[in-house]
Amino acid sequence: MKYNRTYNFSAGPATMPEEVLEEIRDEMMNYKGSGMCVMEMSHRSKVYQQIIDEAEQDLRDLMGIPDNYKVLFIQGGATLQFSMIPMNLMKNGKAVYIETGAWSKKAIAEAKKVGEVIVGASSKDKNYTYIPDCSDLDIPEDADYVYICENETIHGVTWNKLPNTKGHVLVSDQSSMFLSKPCNVSDYGMIYGGVQKNIGPAGLAIVIVREDLIRDDLTDLPVYMQYSIHAGAGSMYNTPNCWAIYVCGKVFKYLKKLGGLEAMEKINIDKAKVFYDFLDQSKLFKGTVVPEDRSLMNIPFVTGDADLDAEVIAYTKKAGFENLKGHKSVGGLRASVYNAMPKDGVVALVDCLKKFEAEH
Ligand SMILES: *Cc1c(COP(=O)(O)O)cnc(C)c1O
Repeated sequence: MKYNRTYNFSAGPATMPEEVLEEIRDEMMNYKGSGMCVMEMSHRSKVYQQIIDEAEQDLRDLMGIPDNYKVLFIQGGATLQFSMIPMNLMKNGKAVYIETGAWSKKAIAEAKKVGEVIVGASSKDKNYTYIPDCSDLDIPEDADYVYICENETIHGVTWNKLPNTKGHVLVSDQSSMFLSKPCNVSDYGMIYGGVQKNIGPAGLAIVIVREDLIRDDLTDLPVYMQYSIHAGAGSMYNTPNCWAIYVCGKVFKYLKKLGGLEAMEKINIDKAKVFYDFLDQSKLFKGTVVPEDRSLMNIPFVTGDADLDAEVIAYTKKAGFENLKGHKSVGGLRASVYNAMPKDGVVALVDCLKKFEAEH
């Protein structure tokens, strides 16, 4: 392998496309004749303005974001959005949340500090191993929005069919599936995600929000918590996460060159199939999620014996595969196979697990 890199199955921060890392390396000492590295530049400079403008435009092209949606780059990761969403979008002080795993639970806990949270459906009864039926939810007329975590990074479940919100605004956390497949933005009032799972460096959230949801009467909120402030300042009310935005922009260009999100989805389906096919025929390993709701990005699996799981983790680590330990709330193992994980990495991991199985 070039550079002697490991196959990194981390859930985030996660593996990046090598081509992007090479470009960044080449531009490190002197970005396009500016005489500076991007991390040394004023965010008010012309050259940086072009970087952020191009990043936004490329993201708009990739996702087909309609003109009546703003794209905001906000620091604080996805976690800050758990608070900003209810602070900005709860007009009547009430929202419906769907509880499907660790990340929607965290969002619910934060929203409860701001207003009334109605848990419209939950898969807690089966330790978040499926997506509950949300075709006929009981949604109060005055609920401000319906909230989902579209891909639960820890529990490995994903929404293949969006909930029926009965005309209410849909808000989605796409952190661990951002840009993994095409997305019809106009189905949502707001889409957001931390970028360190599937796009770039940690510390940045991308918020795509319909303009009419951005209120300018929230002046009692701390300035940083107001979407209108970020929108009004082109995501530069204060110094943005310049470096992360630059790297994300590189990844957007990389994805465009690859053929966009349709092409990416094909690759992701093909890649995840290698792993799920293995799990489905294995006598030792089994996936924890019902087949219909399995994530293309995060694949939790177990042997059913915690000691044996630990042995597998040590075995794969020795063979050069990193970060396969499952989250403590699920146990076992988890392979995160984001956009940048090559199919070769998945095939090699499956071969390693097959070898372990044969030996045990
Ligand atoms: C990682 C993750 C978060 C939290 O992201 P931070 O940037 O660390 O705040 C939120 N939601 C989902 C689905 C995630 O995977």
